[in-house]
Amino acid sequence: MKSRFMRLFLPMENSILSNFRKLQSEIPASVRLVAVSKTHTEEKILHLYNVGHKIFGENKVQELLVKHEHLPKDIEWHFIGHLQTNKVKSIAPFISLIHSVDSLKLLKEINKEAEKNKRVISCLLEVHIATEETKFGMNREEIIELITSPEYGSFRNISICGLMGMASFSSDMNLVQKEFQHISSLFKEIKNNYFKEDQKFCELSIGMSGDYLLAIKEGSTLVRVGSLIFGDR
Ligand SMILES: *Cc1c(COP(=O)(O)O)cnc(C)c1O
Repeated sequence: MKSRFMRLFLPMENSILSNFRKLQSEIPASVRLVAVSKTHTEEKILHLYNVGHKIFGENKVQELLVKHEHLPKDIEWHFIGHLQTNKVKSIAPFISLIHSVDSLKLLKEINKEAEKNKRVISCLLEVHIATEETKFGMNREEIIELITSPEYGSFRNISICGLMGMASFSSDMNLVQKEFQHISSLFKEIKNNYFKEDQKFCELSIGMSGDYLLAIKEGSTLVRVGSLIFGDR
């Protein structure tokens, strides 16, 4: 079945595979790896797919649509970038997990498009944890307002599976750790107060190439790693 995508390995593939193997050996079994393939070729994605990796992350809708069209249909695509409401429709038929829900309006649109596709779409709520203004995400109050709103209570075609955050782009690991601790304690608070009986609320998506080990220490269940696997963008 996979023969269409099988080829002999070339040197570049070997480095992707060895990067991947090293990462795999460092990540505990309880943590899933999202291979962030944005800007990288379909060929590179196939190198990992061919050794059994199925979870890939993209942050641009157009790029994701092209890759989804061309690549094997059992790839689990995660959307990790800022998502505009008018683009939800195009990814709703196949997206596995949307990490970056940052408003009730967006969630409402995802619910609507999921319903049209007779699906329940898994989503994470994005928390703004970084010091930079440029990053997206909600604060604690906005998240609580969203999940306690009557409108959220009426959504039948989305499932909130946890929280996502992006730490500051900084070499100050104390700062990054503080930001991870903040989202980790918020995750526990939200879980205990609003999703205690909900098994599906179990994901904390934190950690990228520069900080995934720290993120795992602080409770990450999904690390999103790009450049450490595929090289520089
Ligand atoms: C690009 C990106 C990543 C991966 O970043 P690397 O530093 O290449 O590992 C993770 N999360 C989000 C939201 C991204 O946009």
